[in-house]
Amino acid sequence: MTERKTAARVVVAGAVYGGGRLLAARRSAPPELAGRWELPGGKVEPGEREEDALVRELREELGIETVPVARVPGAWPLPRGHELRVWTVRLVSGEPRPLQDHDALRWVTASEAAPDGQGPAPDPVDWLEADRPAVRAVLALLGPA
Ligand code: C5P
Repeated sequence: MTERKTAARVVVAGAVYGGGRLLAARRSAPPELAGRWELPGGKVEPGEREEDALVRELREELGIETVPVARVPGAWPLPRGHELRVWTVRLVSGEPRPLQDHDALRWVTASEAAPDGQGPAPDPVDWLEADRPAVRAVLALLGPA
């Protein structure tokens, strides 16, 4: 009997935070996403643990070593039946650099990160659609910076 794959494929992203700021990454590809900002991460491979995928993706994309701390409650739909999940992450070593998939990084305050422009934010982040509710949940979990 053939096993039907009905479960959503998971994309896992990291809320890397420090000094009251959250790390945002600007996508350089694909063209339809380029220029928009996201919480960095990527697809979980078959058989891979979500946390392991996140550590791997952040190493590949940003050159940093991280430890996942807690899963942010919630899951957000992505195109093509994928689902976005987010973990808060502790930066253990390395200085994040856009090595792959991104062309800029920014450490943002809670008011800059807030997708709905709560309070004055001179330079708000243009998050990808799926990341907007995810960032809201991250800010709710981390509390005001
Ligand atoms: O990074 P990667 O290309 O593996 O991610 C797969 C897809 O997940 C992206 O094309 C994008 O649509 C989506 N994604 C997202 N927000 C993130 C990470 C990925 O919308 N924080």
